[in-house]
Amino acid sequence: MRMGRMLALLALIGAGAGGLAEAQIAVAEPEYTGEDRIEKWTGKTILVVTPHPDDDTFTSGGTLAMLARNGNDISILIYTSDNAGSNDPRMTKERLAEIRRAEEEEACRILGIPAGKITWLGYDDGMLEYVDRRELTKQVAREIRRHRPDAVFSVDPGAPYRQWHKSDHRSGAFITVDALRAAAWRLYFPELEQAGFRHWSVPVSFFYYSAQPNYTVDVTEVAALKARASAAHTSQFGDMLEKYDQIDLEKRRKELAEELLKGQLKPGANGRVVERFRRSTRYGS
Ligand SMILES: [Zn+2]
Repeated sequence: MRMGRMLALLALIGAGAGGLAEAQIAVAEPEYTGEDRIEKWTGKTILVVTPHPDDDTFTSGGTLAMLARNGNDISILIYTSDNAGSNDPRMTKERLAEIRRAEEEEACRILGIPAGKITWLGYDDGMLEYVDRRELTKQVAREIRRHRPDAVFSVDPGAPYRQWHKSDHRSGAFITVDALRAAAWRLYFPELEQAGFRHWSVPVSFFYYSAQPNYTVDVTEVAALKARASAAHTSQFGDMLEKYDQIDLEKRRKELAEELLKGQLKPGANGRVVERFRRSTRYGS
């Protein structure tokens, strides 16, 4: 961070005697009440950066369905192939990657996002933390510069990162925000600038899996669509992966979608289904 911005930030949050360490404690922001509602966007570009090919659907599927329906251009960037979550001795990484790819493509199709809009970085499931960080940040920064999105969706890098059970979520969260900064400045990875990937500052980010959400999207009207898209990730539910070759996929997906739709209606929610994010304008600079 540039010094001027750091001083401004310290002043903003009233850091005094506690100094820098205190200033770095994340403070939950109040619910966003501004006019710039993403639900009303049309003709904008959205980039979703996700560790696995199901996090996007489960956390943001309703919002993405609404954005697609409203004529926005949505691209999905996936860090891993999600190819290690099986103890079946007959399963291979290649076969599992194929299953997960087909499931994501089907989920995206249901949400209104064509398969051609999905980019797979193809890293092994669970191994993101061991990938060269500089190269990975550059790869994601290049994608951000290529798409030049009006908004990025990704995993929240903030609290409680120590509680992340999945290393790909922890790692992906930090790489995404580092890449947002690297995309914004010309002299970060100057080779990208030279290769025609001009710097691009993403105006706003929406973080899912957040412990400090400040933005709520009412997705009730597309809840059935989200349930169908979530059910398309069939191998992620219970023992479905072990039975994958024996089940009637279409029938099972239909049943799952019905169960998921019922499950989305939380007690006290007045029949509304919502998705919650941490909205921030601080990461693209
Ligand atoms: Zn995941």
